Amino acid sequence: MSLFDWFAARRKDQFVGKVIQETEEGDGLWGKCPECGQVVYRKDLLTNANVCSNCGHHNRVNSQERIDLIADPDSFEVIDKNLSPTDPLGFKDRRTYADRLRESQSSTGMKDGVVTGTCKVENMPLALAVMDFRFMGGVYGFSCR
Ligand SMILES: [Zn+2]
Repeated sequence: MSLFDWFAARRKDQFVGKVIQETEEGDGLWGKCPECGQVVYRKDLLTNANVCSNCGHHNRVNSQERIDLIADPDSFEVIDKNLSPTDPLGFKDRRTYADRLRESQSSTGMKDGVVTGTCKVENMPLALAVMDFRFMGGVYGFSCR
């Protein structure tokens, strides 16, 4: 097993397998906790910061969900919305970095793995930088386009 394969297998075990699973109904309203198997209502899960109320397992939250958990309603304003990663080295392993970037941008609808902005928390001004693991593990941009 190559080092790359080892990381891929480990990543699959640790991250892909540890997200809320779809229930048999597949309606998107319900999920199954990956730790205890409890069927949970997704809205209830989000109001509990994506923590399973049955076993306390912390499920991943995406950047928008994290912002919604932290910021006062409708107070978040994105800054540097055109910031996106670049590939100055033309990096390639099994696939090109540019292809991975395009795929992440397409699958997440994001330009970058980190969302930055300002908001208010209990009416106090705050700057946020929120990493989104779905986007290549949260890769951060280097230049504006
Ligand atoms: Zn659980």
